[in-house]
Amino acid sequence: MSKQNFDVCVIGGGIIGLCCAYYLQKEGKSVIVLDKGPIEKASSHGNCGYISPSHIVPLNDWSLILKSLKWIFKEDAPFRIKPRFDLDLLKWFVGFARRANSTHIERAMAGRNALLKSSDTLYKSLFEDENIACNYRTDGIFWVFKEEHGFHHFNKENDMVKPYGLEAKPFVGQALIDKEPALKEDLFGGWLFEMDSWVKPDDVISGLVSVLKNKGVQFVSDYELKYLNIEGDKVTSVSNGQETYSADDFVLSMGAWTPLITKQLNLSVPVVPGKGYSLTMKPPKNMLKHACIFQESKVAATPWKDTFRLGSLMEFAGYDENFSRVRLNALKKGAEAYLKTPYSEEILEEWFGYRPMSVDGLPIIGKSPKHKNLFVATGHSMIGLSMGTGTGKLISELVTKKGVHLDASFYGMERFG
Ligand SMILES: Cc1cc2nc3c(=O)[nH]c(=O)nc-3n(C[C@H](O)[C@H](O)[C@H](O)COP(=O)(O)OP(=O)(O)OC[C@H]3O[C@@H](n4cnc5c(N)ncnc54)[C@H](O)[C@@H]3O)c2cc1C
Repeated sequence: MSKQNFDVCVIGGGIIGLCCAYYLQKEGKSVIVLDKGPIEKASSHGNCGYISPSHIVPLNDWSLILKSLKWIFKEDAPFRIKPRFDLDLLKWFVGFARRANSTHIERAMAGRNALLKSSDTLYKSLFEDENIACNYRTDGIFWVFKEEHGFHHFNKENDMVKPYGLEAKPFVGQALIDKEPALKEDLFGGWLFEMDSWVKPDDVISGLVSVLKNKGVQFVSDYELKYLNIEGDKVTSVSNGQETYSADDFVLSMGAWTPLITKQLNLSVPVVPGKGYSLTMKPPKNMLKHACIFQESKVAATPWKDTFRLGSLMEFAGYDENFSRVRLNALKKGAEAYLKTPYSEEILEEWFGYRPMSVDGLPIIGKSPKHKNLFVATGHSMIGLSMGTGTGKLISELVTKKGVHLDASFYGMERFG
């Protein structure tokens, strides 16, 4: 059965797809969003909620590869490759390692900075203009170190981000506890990124969906895109095998699942799923004032008005649907060394999601080199929430051909040949 024609059909309703729909609708386009659901499984639902313009350094680093290999059989490790044969993942790691050099890292930092900065500014107006209540807090995010060595080593990264005006402020010993009394007294210190903020991501998603519905954007859930129908160099419609939707333009924003569809079209979208977990609960007795990343355990803690979330961990396990209790418990263990009361017993949600990990630390946003009316927006890795609004605006500018607000060449698919 064929459904009515829309200006733009967005496939995937995570933060990226919703932001694309928002800015496209703002440009007067009629938009439909298709999603296979359930939304709770998407990466945008249970993440840690950081909007971090400071996160400009990509992961591409040999030490990460070596750690992932060292911890291959350690189920509770912060970074881990699940032992199994996976050719796509092997190719991805080779590409990731090839880019672990200063030339690439500088380029990635410039591209990440432009998009993060734009998104940060756009979020401020989005939340205000559309009245989205999402526990938006602008108090800054702490990177907390138990050990002196790690704290001093971080200075190197701080030096890298300084030229972008993203310097963190150091707090050592008692100064850290005075600023953040929920932390344990024996920690060495912390670096505060004052420009960073946080939200409750689930509230951003539900708020945006309701804003978009009020503006006339159509939503279809339980719709799993299986095929794209192509005539010449144009996509004419999409299908789940039963229903087709036609549109003038199409945006693929299916997060970590995007390559499953782009493969059909022989498009190179080097993205693999990076599985992460989170645990949401009622606030513990000593609630944090700031969101914090505990650097040795790599666990992130996010305080909201009446809830608290521990999240993180990175596992390259394909689209593995198993829920690992060992990994979930590693979140609790990872917070114990840092917080006076690391968790409460009133658990509200146990969750995992797949980060769309791009091979070079830059998202993939742009028009298909082979199709006139097909756009891709994925590969936002660990900072997809932070880059949501900038990505949505860029996609709307590319679709409407009205000129772009930042240098789009950083993000295009052409870079993969
Ligand atoms: C534990 C954890 C913590 C994180 N913390 C942060 C953070 O603090 N700050 C930050 O910026 N980022 C964070 N991230 C990363 C961030 O969550 C992601 O980068 C971002 O959510 C990706 O958004 P997306 O819209 O691309 O993908 P998703 O949110 O995964 O959305 C993709 C959507 O596409 C749909 N879909 C997939 N395939 C199909 C199909 N065939 N047909 C139809 N629909 C389909 C899915 O159902 C889904 O709704 C975190 C991630 C994890 C896992």
